[in-house]
Amino acid sequence: MKILFVLPNETIKSNFKKFVKWLNIKFVFGFGKSLAFPILTALMPPTQDVEFIEGGHNEIDYNKDYDLVGITAVTRYSPLAYEIADEFRKRGVKVVMGGWHASALPEEAKQHADSVVIGEAEDTWPILIKDLKNGTLKPFYQPVRPVDVKNIPNPQMKIFPRNNRSSVQATRGCPYKCEFCSMACVKFRNQFRMRPINDVIEDIIDIPNKGFFFIDNSLTVNPNYSIELFKQMKDLNKRFYAYGNIDVLNKNKELLKSAQEAGCFSWFVGFDSICQESLDNVKKVSNKVKNYISSIKNIHDHGISVMGSFIFGFDYDTIDVFNKTDDFIRKSELDIPVFYVLTPFPGSLIFNRLDREGRIFTKDWSKYDLSHVVFKPKNMTVEELENNFRNFCIQQYSFSRNLNRMINGIKFGPNIFLNIAIMNNYSMLNNWF
Ligand code: SF4
Repeated sequence: MKILFVLPNETIKSNFKKFVKWLNIKFVFGFGKSLAFPILTALMPPTQDVEFIEGGHNEIDYNKDYDLVGITAVTRYSPLAYEIADEFRKRGVKVVMGGWHASALPEEAKQHADSVVIGEAEDTWPILIKDLKNGTLKPFYQPVRPVDVKNIPNPQMKIFPRNNRSSVQATRGCPYKCEFCSMACVKFRNQFRMRPINDVIEDIIDIPNKGFFFIDNSLTVNPNYSIELFKQMKDLNKRFYAYGNIDVLNKNKELLKSAQEAGCFSWFVGFDSICQESLDNVKKVSNKVKNYISSIKNIHDHGISVMGSFIFGFDYDTIDVFNKTDDFIRKSELDIPVFYVLTPFPGSLIFNRLDREGRIFTKDWSKYDLSHVVFKPKNMTVEELENNFRNFCIQQYSFSRNLNRMINGIKFGPNIFLNIAIMNNYSMLNNWF
């Protein structure tokens, strides 16, 4: 059987992005790529003929002889995913869709696919393949229990181009229920599970790149597990990023020390807002704004940089949130800031609330890209949020701000400095092109 896995994405047209790809900057292009397809590949016999394509119509040969096409897309690329699915189905090829968006809106995805995989696929994929061979494909496949993480196979990273093999997952799920998080209300995703550490170490050893990204929702949910994992990684000579919650990173020095010794470049923290009312309102219980600056200092003191994300457009945000965030970023010496417009992804609790309140004014999913405004904010107009966000990004990634962050990054040594320089300048150039 010949299977094609498609990850819809924009065709790389800009010369800058082509240049970055040519340079093979692994941390930029292979950044935290989903492991869904490598895991599905590992669940099938090794003789299976599997191809992987990331991109749009230009990258796909619709006349190739596939028996099955599997597509997973984030909300932003779901319209493109549907076009691709329709093209294949016109040619009589069976199409299966899965991933966050299809799981949140399975009936919508089903209009473009023969079958939709809802939620975690490890238990349902082998059944789906058997049904396909028997000609009894069902419209929907949904797990009846959380996947036992002991049964997650070693992901077959070889289906990715070499520079994209940069993801590892140690844990599944997140016990928190932040209102804006697209995963918070997906069945079983609130059940936090830890893979056997030996399995994780095997996956890390298999990664050809020196650097990689832990794509776990948070590696601070069970600090004792993470400390043990980091201790066992100590001699692997790898460098990595990981997501973590700031309340734990603020307190747990042993976690920071073991992370540093294991090769942690940077903790990726969702600060999300510097307005405590906004955080309380969306139930981001792990964040206390008053501790932000001392927490960043603690992480810095352990020789680790901090990448921090901020979201604009919460109900308590007024226009001065931009100035206050700018103030905080300068005072805290945050190394790599990342900014998003609040986006109510289908399936999230905030999508349901804003929809109920009649505040979502477009369901053109291509606009759900974290930089367009798709709902009516409470304390700003749509234009105010959009324009202030754009200007804020230009200001934050200006040459002088980037230079400051790079100078501050020298104290971490050449590897982390280089990483801070690449990430900030990538954001600056991305803003320009
Ligand atoms: S935003 Fe982070 S902490 Fe909150 S539910 Fe999502 S993964 Fe968990």
